[in-house]
Amino acid sequence: AKTRGRNAWSVFDPQLQRTVRERAALEVDIRMALEQGHFLLHYQPVVDAEGRVQGAEALVRWKHPERGLIPPGAFIPAAEQMGLIFALDRWVLRLACQQLALWAQDAATADWTLAVNLSAQEFRHADFVSRMQDILRDTGARADRLKLELTESLMLDEVEDSIAKMQTLRGWGIQFSLDDFGTGYSSLGYLKRLPLSQLKIDQSFVRDVLLDANDAAIVRTVIALGQSLGLEVVAEGVETRGQLDFLVAHGCRRFQGYLFGRPAEAQMLLAHAGLVVPA
Ligand code: C2E
Ligand code: CA
Ligand code: CA
Ligand code: CA
Repeated sequence: AKTRGRNAWSVFDPQLQRTVRERAALEVDIRMALEQGHFLLHYQPVVDAEGRVQGAEALVRWKHPERGLIPPGAFIPAAEQMGLIFALDRWVLRLACQQLALWAQDAATADWTLAVNLSAQEFRHADFVSRMQDILRDTGARADRLKLELTESLMLDEVEDSIAKMQTLRGWGIQFSLDDFGTGYSSLGYLKRLPLSQLKIDQSFVRDVLLDANDAAIVRTVIALGQSLGLEVVAEGVETRGQLDFLVAHGCRRFQGYLFGRPAEAQMLLAHAGLVVPA
């Protein structure tokens, strides 16, 4: 029964109430995967209104020897609950910065930025700033090419601390992006005080932007809000030409989605270097 429990896909269902034993097994699995190098990063292009690649977002995957590629939604919540997100996010940051340092060596990719998702837990960790400093020093990545994506959960508490930390990192050139904007707890007052350079419109609003008048209104409002606060606005989950046209017509200038490229290994992204908007 023990082995069956460990190999069942349901172990990875974040909604499931896990037994103590299942949780322990998943914890061991995640730790081992970190040690054995079973995580990898996929990169999804971020493009401008002309369809030129401006950079990418790094998205973690678990390459499980038996279960294949496991998406982050199936293990990030567990990693957060079990205190393993610190090690995982640090591993992701280090690899992402190594990738940035590689891109810096090639004229075709030297300007690209790389966005990394950061759990609020790791960002809030007392040692985060010095860890970030170590990673930049060890990898030689340029701080002004790195974007850290944070979610609105950051604003739930210790807001003053977070703002101070962001300002320190901002001083080095690191940019901050507010991810999944509109789905969380943001108050507009906090939004103004955070040293952000970017808002990301959540894909749940982009999906039905042509079908749902409320989603269309939210998308237009977020774009206008970004413009008036001097923030770059990135639309995620752009899958169709129609969605792109709507976003462009309302002033959005940065896009991410299957229309331009799915998350894939770094080499695939290079093939997108000369990408143009599909007709
Ligand atoms: P996210 O940051 O909102 O990332 C965007 C998600 O949308 C990704 O899912 C991406 O594969 C997917 N996506 C991109 N374009 C499209 C599209 O056109 N249509 C649709 N339907 N989906 C699209 P993914 O890779 O499964 O990641 C899920 C979430 O896991 C991310 O959401 C992020 O919150 C989290 N995550 C990913 N990597 C990391 C990481 O290294 N650390 C942490 N802490 N969280 C991560
Ligand atoms: Ca993100
Ligand atoms: Ca999102
Ligand atoms: Ca998200």
